[in-house]
Amino acid sequence: MSCHDIGRGLNSVVRRTARLLDEGRIDQEAAREIFLACRKAVHWCDGNEGEATDVVQPCMCGRCLRIVTAGEGLYDLWDAQGMTWEKLRDTAFVTDRLCTECFDKVIAEINPEEGMPEEQRRMIEELNAEEPERWQSLGRYAFDNNGIPWPSE
Ligand SMILES: [Zn+2]
Repeated sequence: MSCHDIGRGLNSVVRRTARLLDEGRIDQEAAREIFLACRKAVHWCDGNEGEATDVVQPCMCGRCLRIVTAGEGLYDLWDAQGMTWEKLRDTAFVTDRLCTECFDKVIAEINPEEGMPEEQRRMIEELNAEEPERWQSLGRYAFDNNGIPWPSE
């Protein structure tokens, strides 16, 4: 039984950090470090890394931190055929969902045996045809914190 509270707490820090980044009050490298620290900090308890960055996953590329326009590709590396912990071990992405450009670059490096990046994207799109939100950006942050409404501020 894993702990979801630590992920929610860190996700609220990620949300605030994304806002500071959007407002230009911190730069991208500072935001990246905080995002990554939050992702890894779930291991101070039995938390899940994905929950710590849940708020940015619907729209932010985990590698270049670009906010991807609604409907454009935002592919989860774990949806690529033959993906393993081993292949992702040396990566340090904020989330495992990447924009098309970043996905293609990373996949060509770490998962070449499964075919050209374009083919791997096509396969993900076909396998998730019923759930396009799995490989398309929603163009906005999550409206809730891992299923729980954000408190009013
Ligand atoms: Zn990117």
